[in-house]
Amino acid sequence: MKSFRFKAILQNSGWLENAVVSIDDAGRIVSVSQNEDLGAEFINGYTLPAFQNAHSHAFQYAMAGLVENHAGDDDFWSWREMMYQLALELDPESLETIAQMCYTELVRNGYSNVAEFHYIHHDKDGVPYPNLAEMGEALVKAARNAGIKITLIPIFYQKGNFGVEPNERQRRFISKSFDDYKRLFEASAEVCQRYEHANVAVGVHSLRGVEATDIIRAATELPDDVPFHIHISEQPKEVEDSLTFLGKRPVEWMLENINLNERFHLVHATHLTQMETANLAKSHANVVLCPSTEGNLGDGLFPLRDYQEFGGNWSIGTDSNIGLNPLEELRLLDYGQRLISHKRNTFGRDAGLFALTKAMVSGRRGTNNFETGFFSVGADFDACVIDANAPLLANVKMENLASSILYSADASHFCGTFIAGKLIQKDHSYDLIKQKFVDCVNKFR
Ligand SMILES: [Zn+2]
Repeated sequence: MKSFRFKAILQNSGWLENAVVSIDDAGRIVSVSQNEDLGAEFINGYTLPAFQNAHSHAFQYAMAGLVENHAGDDDFWSWREMMYQLALELDPESLETIAQMCYTELVRNGYSNVAEFHYIHHDKDGVPYPNLAEMGEALVKAARNAGIKITLIPIFYQKGNFGVEPNERQRRFISKSFDDYKRLFEASAEVCQRYEHANVAVGVHSLRGVEATDIIRAATELPDDVPFHIHISEQPKEVEDSLTFLGKRPVEWMLENINLNERFHLVHATHLTQMETANLAKSHANVVLCPSTEGNLGDGLFPLRDYQEFGGNWSIGTDSNIGLNPLEELRLLDYGQRLISHKRNTFGRDAGLFALTKAMVSGRRGTNNFETGFFSVGADFDACVIDANAPLLANVKMENLASSILYSADASHFCGTFIAGKLIQKDHSYDLIKQKFVDCVNKFR
């Protein structure tokens, strides 16, 4: 048993000052109180529930910033060609190194969990590894070494586009049939069972990536007690192709063909009609918004204000990992809405608390955690600690504190992340993985 005292800790209803958190040997919360525990270790920080990264492709971290010398009309589709090139070069070892660096940085930025949308399954020639989940296991090991909890989402990827066979450059991603994907899913689930910090989810790349009948099978014939993740409606061209091929817009098709509920995580959902926005919100499915990547790729802006009016659930993800700071993701999300609505109240009265709560609740669901309490007794103590000495935060009133953190804190304010009760700060192991990463990515540059 161990205790920590914080200057304040964020609860669902607001801040609890001078709070003591006691945890057991497994890192689970035993109590949160204002008692006079003189043995508690004092940390001069404001403590938030750790952030949930509901959508990541860790390998893409290796190309962050490298695809910005634009020749001609660069867009999502030309960026994708560069991404394919990187995907073809990785082996399990280099994937593990890149992912460990990325996850280490995520932990430094306050994330305790990552939902890894993983589709580089096979060897470089497209032949499956003897262990179907070889590359997935590399990601799970990377997460273990970085100290982050991972939800491995082996992705069902079958097509090059609607009704089009995959091209050569996609050969590492492909499950030809539903049964092939089922085997991959089961191998991935088996790997996750062997690691304490890992669990598994079902994932479909997109409507353009898998036959409609097989998407329905993935949603109905695989375990329904794990989350289901899918990319959707990210680019206008994808919506046009969907209309041509399926006669429906992507989200419209999902609403009509899949029994959407809290288990489902629709990544991006950028291009929606009013009707889709309302019905998606009412389905209780979650939308995963990735503002840095969506901005970087020129996707567009999600209609968040309308979606929220219908009570829609949403979380955040780092996607291509071009941005790793959850506060930046939330700010970008808000500012995009302010720029198109000419209003400042995207997140309502207590903007900071509202945004942190939304992102946390849906984000946790994406990792199969339906706990809505910020720091509930019996839950792992997963927390992001913000420096209470930061000039802008030092004397701020409690009613302004969550928003002061959300709108003004930068990376220098993060002073550590607790994951299952273990405090992870920048330390010796950071320098080790840094050097390994630098050596590893040298060959791709
Ligand atoms: Zn993605």
